[in-house]
Amino acid sequence: MQTTVASVSAMLLYPSVLRSSPLVMQRIHQIVFVYSLLALSWFAMMAVHEFGHVVGALATGGSVERVVLHPLAISRTDVSPNPNPSIVVWLGPILGCVVPAAVWWLIPQRFFAARDIAMFFTGFCLLANGAYIAIGSFDRVGDCGVMLQTGSPLWTLLLFGLLTIPLGFYLWHRLGSAKHFLADPFMVDPIVAYTLLGVLVVMLALELTISPR
Ligand SMILES: [Zn+2]
Repeated sequence: MQTTVASVSAMLLYPSVLRSSPLVMQRIHQIVFVYSLLALSWFAMMAVHEFGHVVGALATGGSVERVVLHPLAISRTDVSPNPNPSIVVWLGPILGCVVPAAVWWLIPQRFFAARDIAMFFTGFCLLANGAYIAIGSFDRVGDCGVMLQTGSPLWTLLLFGLLTIPLGFYLWHRLGSAKHFLADPFMVDPIVAYTLLGVLVVMLALELTISPR
């Protein structure tokens, strides 16, 4: 009876908008988290992939002319002279997967949120690089064209996708149900959501100011 009286008084005293506002606010935090994480994953994935090409160039005596990481352009690394284009081209997708996995592995267990984000990002990079190389092998464009022209057999490109794509899906699967996550906005920590947004804004600002197009 007391509970009923309390809930009826609460309904009379507070309008429904205010009563539901914690949920509305948490839903906004969730939207910020999801969109920031996806956008950041996309731009950071390209940055790590290009980092792989740069490492490949430097390791084989090549000279990096230009790294394009502009948000409005498809990323690319121009290397000239390029004594070993095969190594340079393969290290983009390979380090593009290995570096995120290493970062995830190095984050201490107690940082749950950072580990989950790094795990999501590793899965994202495995899927993106795997799909780019395996599916791109049919069009022979971009990195795939260079790989095939420099002597990599088609099956090596397909094998790369065959290893990375299932592993990427496996990591995402281990994070738990996306449906469950989206249904419960209280699973998102607002501090984490706005930290991701901040990192995304800084990254885009840096790319817009520093990178050529
Ligand atoms: Zn590339």
